[in-house]
Amino acid sequence: MTRRVRASIHIAALRHNLQRVREAAPRSRVMVVIKANGYGHGGVTVARALADADAFAVAGIDEALGLREAGIEGRVLLLSGAHAGAELEAASRHRLDVVVHHETQLEMLERTRLPRPLAVWLKVDSGMHRLGVAPEAARVFWRRLKACPQAGEHVRLMTHLANADDRRDPATERQLARFRASTEGLEGERSIANSAGVLGWPQSHAEWVRPGIMLYGISPFVGGVAANDGLQPAMTLSTRLIAVNRVPRGEAVGYGGTWVCPEDMPVGVAAVGYGDGYLRSLPSGTPVLVNGQRVPLVGRVSMDLISVDLRTQPDARPGDEVVLWGRGLPVEEPAQLAGTIPYELVCRVAQRVEWAVDGED
Ligand SMILES: *Cc1c(COP(=O)(O)O)cnc(C)c1O
Repeated sequence: MTRRVRASIHIAALRHNLQRVREAAPRSRVMVVIKANGYGHGGVTVARALADADAFAVAGIDEALGLREAGIEGRVLLLSGAHAGAELEAASRHRLDVVVHHETQLEMLERTRLPRPLAVWLKVDSGMHRLGVAPEAARVFWRRLKACPQAGEHVRLMTHLANADDRRDPATERQLARFRASTEGLEGERSIANSAGVLGWPQSHAEWVRPGIMLYGISPFVGGVAANDGLQPAMTLSTRLIAVNRVPRGEAVGYGGTWVCPEDMPVGVAAVGYGDGYLRSLPSGTPVLVNGQRVPLVGRVSMDLISVDLRTQPDARPGDEVVLWGRGLPVEEPAQLAGTIPYELVCRVAQRVEWAVDGED
């Protein structure tokens, strides 16, 4: 039997989730965030599936050029901007939008000759203190960009929310107020909302929203359930059982013997491990689906294998399907048990996994 972990990407779910964005933010244009290879779903696959998005966003130039090479013609924004004159030139040649979030980037833009002006988004730090110019400096930057021949006529304004994933956190209102005050009266389209902003903070919608995680059918909220927001999982990670063994009562399973059989019982071995991106920190008790039924992981995750308790599935056989997350088992569940967020689980699905795209119709 071949050892195949498979990441199935559900095109219809991606499209459905984009529709949910449009319903939630009906007056905004949608910039689909596909950094980190489309959150592990395949950046080109997602861009093709969501070709009617108004724009795409990636972190850096390599990702953007990869999209262009694959024939993606739509608008693409570099969220981290350019870090060298050559990157600005490439951005200009390939019609990429760039973020300017720092004085060095503005200076570079002012002194670099470009084949054609760039569409620029000025990023203001409204309180996250990661990327962005200080609110007090926003007007000066905006004026310099307006005067810069390398920047296109329209200067767009953006900021990023740090705490929008908690609907009760007052920090979001403070960020919104700071962004509003620092950009008041400046002409230009604005963009603030990530997925949590789209779903939880309508006052953040502005002219452009920038959803990522919700397009993949995952809740952006702490302890959130994507189905409650009408989202459908866009990835199902699955494998097969490759062995079913009877293990006697009192015997331990896996490295370190961290889990001991409470009775004589069937233990299934599934072909997936941390080498595939199924995190080693996932504890005993983490649910997986065997033939659609939930069973618990037992013992440690190894590089290529996991063990599962099959006492409730005595008919399970080698070759049967095992779902790690996706349809029927939201990735939010294992993520929480691993002490991380679902973003990390989907981003870390390894290259060796087999990719399959379904529902392309
Ligand atoms: C990643 C990112 C987003 C999307 O965030 P989600 O939480 O995945 O919706 C939006 N804007 C910026 C600047 C980002 O880096």
